[in-house]
Amino acid sequence: MSTLEIKDLQVSVETEDGPKEILKGVTLTINSGETHAIMGPNGSGKSTLAYSIAGHPKYSITGGTVTLDGEDVLEMSVDERAKAGLFLAMQYPVEVPGVSVANFLRTAKTALDGEAPKLRTWVKDVNGAMNKMHLDPSFSQRSVNEGFSGGEKKRHEIAQLDILDPAFALLDEIDSGLDIDALKVVSDGINDFRAREAKSVLLITHYTRILRYVKPDRVHVFVAGRIAESGGPELAEELEANGYEKYTTAGV
Ligand code: ADP
Ligand code: MG
Ligand code: MG
Repeated sequence: MSTLEIKDLQVSVETEDGPKEILKGVTLTINSGETHAIMGPNGSGKSTLAYSIAGHPKYSITGGTVTLDGEDVLEMSVDERAKAGLFLAMQYPVEVPGVSVANFLRTAKTALDGEAPKLRTWVKDVNGAMNKMHLDPSFSQRSVNEGFSGGEKKRHEIAQLDILDPAFALLDEIDSGLDIDALKVVSDGINDFRAREAKSVLLITHYTRILRYVKPDRVHVFVAGRIAESGGPELAEELEANGYEKYTTAGV
């Protein structure tokens, strides 16, 4: 069992006009085996939350704590966070020219495990992951994210999730830009991951569409840098019907 605990997290980003406060006190606990969905309008700070947990240097933590089984995540380097079991699928995955998908995966896996993966099972595992995401095996030889379509980027993120097998997956708008077939493939990949023992998912989205396939245990409405309301899966249906207006006009 492991627990990711976010308490009163406050985060600023540096802008031309000085620091701008984005997260205004976020409190959230995710236990292993749980899937939490964060839903909110554009610009509410959802990606900021994901990046702050993963350790992106652009964001300054001005208050609050993030712990993983009591260990201070905010004190950890990005590598240490990954070793501790945190994985981030970015909303806009970055291109890594000259580094093939196969090399990228192997380097990441070796760093995480402290030893190189066994060659025989490795090739099979990578091909299996590509296959599940409906990516051609030759995809492994392409440079990471370079010239990938929007859907290929997202499917590649889930292939990484499959291979790297973290404890906590932070998935930032993994559903954006996917057509209905790709959404199904990606959702199946997330559900495969969730079926493994003691895995946690923080699924960030602003559409309820993906939640028809990936059923969350908890749903949080995220507005203006904080959680405005939390509930069960029924909250997503309420949002589908009524949108975020209730939260944005109520002065939260
Ligand atoms: P979301 O993922 O919910 O759409 P983000 O976390 O991406 O929201 O952004 C939250 C807010 O922070 C937005 O208003 C965005 O414009 C602002 N922001 C993020 N990065 C910067 C930056 N470098 N300079 C100025 N504002 C920023
Ligand atoms: Mg956005
Ligand atoms: Mg975002």
